Amino acid sequence: MIRVLIWNEYKHELTSDWVKGIYPNGIHQVIAEFLRSDDIEVRTATLHDENCGITKEILDNTDVLIWWGHMAHDEVPDEVAALVRDAVLSGMGMIFLHSAHHSKPFRLLLGTSCNLTWRESHDSELLWVVEPAHPITQGIDRFFKLEREETYGEPFVIPTPDKILFLGSYSGGEAFRSGCLWERGNGKIFYFQPGHEGYPTFYVPEVQTVIRNAVRYLAPNIRLTVGCPNVRKVTDEKPYVRG
Ligand code: ZN
Repeated sequence: MIRVLIWNEYKHELTSDWVKGIYPNGIHQVIAEFLRSDDIEVRTATLHDENCGITKEILDNTDVLIWWGHMAHDEVPDEVAALVRDAVLSGMGMIFLHSAHHSKPFRLLLGTSCNLTWRESHDSELLWVVEPAHPITQGIDRFFKLEREETYGEPFVIPTPDKILFLGSYSGGEAFRSGCLWERGNGKIFYFQPGHEGYPTFYVPEVQTVIRNAVRYLAPNIRLTVGCPNVRKVTDEKPYVRG
């Protein structure tokens, strides 16, 4: 069983009638619904929960954390962002969606501004598969199309990804690294650009397929916090101590 926690700041859906019309119970509930299956157990948390719904114990029991945030990144305490970073370093898988590129945990894990260029002009987007053999792109053809999406453009100020799985191209002319993978410590991180709150992106079958694939790919085999122990010679008994 893969234990997934979906975190959503859950603000636009409560303050904008337009967004509420698309996601009446919140973006997190739509993602939860398409992810839940025989081998995936789903919980949700939002900014409105105590401590943002994130504690060390909760993260210790999470295999993959999915994060959506936009207007309230600063309301996430630094301590919560540090807990998320530490969980990823120990092996937890992490998916950052769309505007989570500016979330505290993403910037903390990647160490750059994670700035990009953007525009809301109802562009359509083609998402091109760069790595057709990768587990996360399975079930997707050469590309898929989103009829409307917020435009994100380069330069995207991130460390060079270990792999680029998707390239986005927009009707307005921009190109963007729309699906990026990194490893940090024992954990894997996937950034996926689609998911603007003003469009029904999370109902698109291909978007759901990619997120489902990513959950299975990012789930860890082991959680292990590697410390910095002083060790004895290998010829001694018990030469290596984990921790
Ligand atoms: Zn957006």
